[in-house]
Amino acid sequence: MIAGNLKQILGELPPQVKLVVVSKTRNDTEIMEAYNSGHRIFGENRVQELTEKHPALPGNIEWHFIGHLQTNKVRDIAPFVTWIHAVDSFRLLREINKRAAQNNRVINCLLQFHIAQEESKHGFATSSPEFLDKEDLSQLANVKICGVMGMATFTDDELQVRSEFRRLWQIFAGLKEVHFADQPDFREISMGMSGDYQIAVEEGSTMVRIGSSIFGPREQ
Ligand SMILES: *Cc1c(COP(=O)(O)O)cnc(C)c1O
Repeated sequence: MIAGNLKQILGELPPQVKLVVVSKTRNDTEIMEAYNSGHRIFGENRVQELTEKHPALPGNIEWHFIGHLQTNKVRDIAPFVTWIHAVDSFRLLREINKRAAQNNRVINCLLQFHIAQEESKHGFATSSPEFLDKEDLSQLANVKICGVMGMATFTDDELQVRSEFRRLWQIFAGLKEVHFADQPDFREISMGMSGDYQIAVEEGSTMVRIGSSIFGPREQ
């Protein structure tokens, strides 16, 4: 069933959109079913869960950390994580750079923006975070800022979800023009989950993060 769902979603997505299979709360058997069907890109949102799972799973999985990340936990995932989707402070970015450097790696990062109406979501509230003007990012040789990430409000109101995704696209376009014009790697918009990925793709998503539509509903 997992392989079938995955195949169906991959068939629906335009070829330029990357699928991050969100494997949080799923066991190794479930993850290996997706892996054995050929998928290599997986996402987790808790550091402890990821560090426990990672050693038991194949080394060629491209791990994306998609959840809120505390500065003091960066060290645990820096040796192997390829992408960090939810960078929401300069302090966190600097810490990722430091830990990536200690591992001789470059970690791809996305800046998270708060686009939802819900209080609890993390992310920058302004469309152009202050640090982009103040800090010399070329000093951070071990992180690559590749774009933006956001989560829409959890609602059935399709118009609202669409307008929030549209806002993230506009934030991306503004940042690209002002701060990243000479950086071709700044090109990703991580938006869209099981309930709203079709809308996200229509609004320009380049990375969708999908769990329950592949593995079934989560218990937790
Ligand atoms: C859990 C999670 C997802 C996937 O959610 P589904 O509704 O299961 O597709 C996507 N993004 C983030 C940040 C998540 O925590």
